[in-house]
Amino acid sequence: MKILRLLPFIGLILAGLSFPVFSAWPAWGKMNVLATTTDLAALARAVGGERVEVTSLTSGLQDVHFVDPKPSLIHQARRADALILVGADLEAGWLPPLLGSARNGKILPGAPGHVDTSKAVKLLDAPGAGVDRSQGDVHPQGNPHHWLDPINAVAAARLIEARFARIDPGGRSYFKGQADDFERTIEKRLPEWQARLAPFKGRRVLTYHRSWDYFALRFGLVVAGELEPKPGIPPSAAHLARLAQKIKDERISILIKEGHYETQSARFLAERTGLRIVELPLSVGGAPGVETYERLMDVLTETLRGAFQGAGR
Ligand SMILES: [Zn+2]
Repeated sequence: MKILRLLPFIGLILAGLSFPVFSAWPAWGKMNVLATTTDLAALARAVGGERVEVTSLTSGLQDVHFVDPKPSLIHQARRADALILVGADLEAGWLPPLLGSARNGKILPGAPGHVDTSKAVKLLDAPGAGVDRSQGDVHPQGNPHHWLDPINAVAAARLIEARFARIDPGGRSYFKGQADDFERTIEKRLPEWQARLAPFKGRRVLTYHRSWDYFALRFGLVVAGELEPKPGIPPSAAHLARLAQKIKDERISILIKEGHYETQSARFLAERTGLRIVELPLSVGGAPGVETYERLMDVLTETLRGAFQGAGR
């Protein structure tokens, strides 16, 4: 099974052999950086500053588990000097075929330009933790939604810094200064964000997908359950009925939901239980004006504080 899982990557590595795996960075151009998500693009911009040109493969409104590796994305992957990904199989459905088509050795697994940020953080629900991994679970390698904990964002930024310095050694001290600035900003803002939600510490919430666990852990909330019976599996009538009972029993007042999920199931529960549906952006670019990681945290903590105050329990 393990070998089968590796096969696509072995193919990719072979495909990359005919291309230079690493070359010194020319002094005259900017590093061309591709990120699988807008959040990672925001981190890459924060760390890379004026020495990089960053593009995200997705919009911030999409479900990054499911992306169409269309020709325009393959074209971008061909030109990239670095690729920053969430990892932990979040992009497993579409990134390997995209990399296979792009045939760019600089961003294949193992190259300095292949920056898997899941390697920089401690994953929740990691394999071996007794989690049920029956067919259809889209989180087989652990929970990949690690970027919603600001401390993980700093860890990802540090990995990006290290890789940028390997690809563009002349920028080493610049990247370090930029990453230091980002870390200082997060360290300064985190207590403010935590203070906003501190009055609601221990509140039990439902989420649509298992994408808010890192955020909840950092901000003292408890995820009591998800509308999806397993990550990636749509809600069933039986599961919703169980949840309706749970909402009443545990006095759960809030459901956190991303805009890209259907609303019918959430409305079904809201009508029966008084559950309040709170739509939150999962990513930078997921709502108007959310253009940086810092702003994403501002919006998430502000919106949730308002929702808890409005819910009144
Ligand atoms: Zn997920």
